[in-house]
Amino acid sequence: MELHGSCLCGSACFVCKGKPLMMGCCHCADCQKASGSAFSPLLIYPIDKFGLLRGDLKKFCQKGGSGKEVKRSFCGNCGSLLTTWYEVTPDFMVIMAGCIDNKAEFKPAWDIYTKEAQSWVEFGKGHKVYPMGYGSK
Ligand SMILES: [Zn+2]
Ligand SMILES: [Zn+2]
Repeated sequence: MELHGSCLCGSACFVCKGKPLMMGCCHCADCQKASGSAFSPLLIYPIDKFGLLRGDLKKFCQKGGSGKEVKRSFCGNCGSLLTTWYEVTPDFMVIMAGCIDNKAEFKPAWDIYTKEAQSWVEFGKGHKVYPMGYGSK
């Protein structure tokens, strides 16, 4: 299995090899700002399974809640957010699911940071729901 993704203008595209480790939705305040949306649907891959095929990605770095670095990559031309990398989990790449072309392969199973979710949002049917990070109570 291979997933392909691209930005809005098409100048950046990437491939993810194999199956994602996890798929879900993040409702944290930072994801809302970064995506310009209510939450971020995302897939998690081992970092070596992600490859940029084309494009010039720009990076935005900030400190996350843990005090460690969070690096978001987006198309330098159209601004589509493609990936997020967390220093706390350096071996993984988070792929923003809205950029994936094989949409049928995206099957989210959980919602995280629901404490920060917008009030009108309903969480996915049958999803595991965590108020903070994955596994939180
Ligand atoms: Zn673009
Ligand atoms: Zn988030």
